Amino acid sequence: MTHDPSDTTPGLPAPPGLPTPPAPPDLPTLVDRLLHGPRPLPIVTAGDPVLRRTAIPYDGQLGDARLAELLAAMRETMHAAPGVGLAAPQVGVPLRIAVLEDPAAVDAEVAEARGRVPLPYRVLVNPSYEPAGPARAAFYEGCLSVPGWQAVVARYDRVRLRGQDETGRELDEEVAGWPARIVQHETDHLHGTLYLDHAEPRSLSSAQHLADRWSQPTPALAAEALGFRLPT
Ligand code: ZN
Repeated sequence: MTHDPSDTTPGLPAPPGLPTPPAPPDLPTLVDRLLHGPRPLPIVTAGDPVLRRTAIPYDGQLGDARLAELLAAMRETMHAAPGVGLAAPQVGVPLRIAVLEDPAAVDAEVAEARGRVPLPYRVLVNPSYEPAGPARAAFYEGCLSVPGWQAVVARYDRVRLRGQDETGRELDEEVAGWPARIVQHETDHLHGTLYLDHAEPRSLSSAQHLADRWSQPTPALAAEALGFRLPT
């Protein structure tokens, strides 16, 4: 049996050799440290508990100027990756904030099949979603925190998105197609959920195989060859 360094009893001193973990910094301090570090920001990968915790609702903890700086750094990091969405926990900040932007630079047939229309840059604060219809769409997607792999996820084709933007303006709108997929993926991050949690396990594909074999507009061929079901 291996020793689990997290196995300490609350209220008792840590066993010899295991330093007491420092108290986590307050959120403004944590963000200031991040903003004084390298750019693009380092992206947290799967296995870090910050990706598995429910993020803290944002209620102004950072102040407007620091929030604006964090958002600019997240946007730069998303562009550099490159990606079409980035949630604050992915840069180690446990707040319910995400940035989204998709130029939808794909060929016309792929764009049509996937409902991939350009999504101008936007910020979601404390977002939530619910289905706005029964239709589901299954496509390959990936995550900057799970580099090198993609898998098929069946998601609601249309969702009702609520929350706020970065100015505090209330959002209540319907989003469809690929933007709806991005909204669901990023909002899930803020609740400790990774796309793999509801992916088709047998669809898992390396980026290399995805590029070589499964770049068709839909994952129908992959479903047949790898043995997974698509929603009907
Ligand atoms: Zn992700």
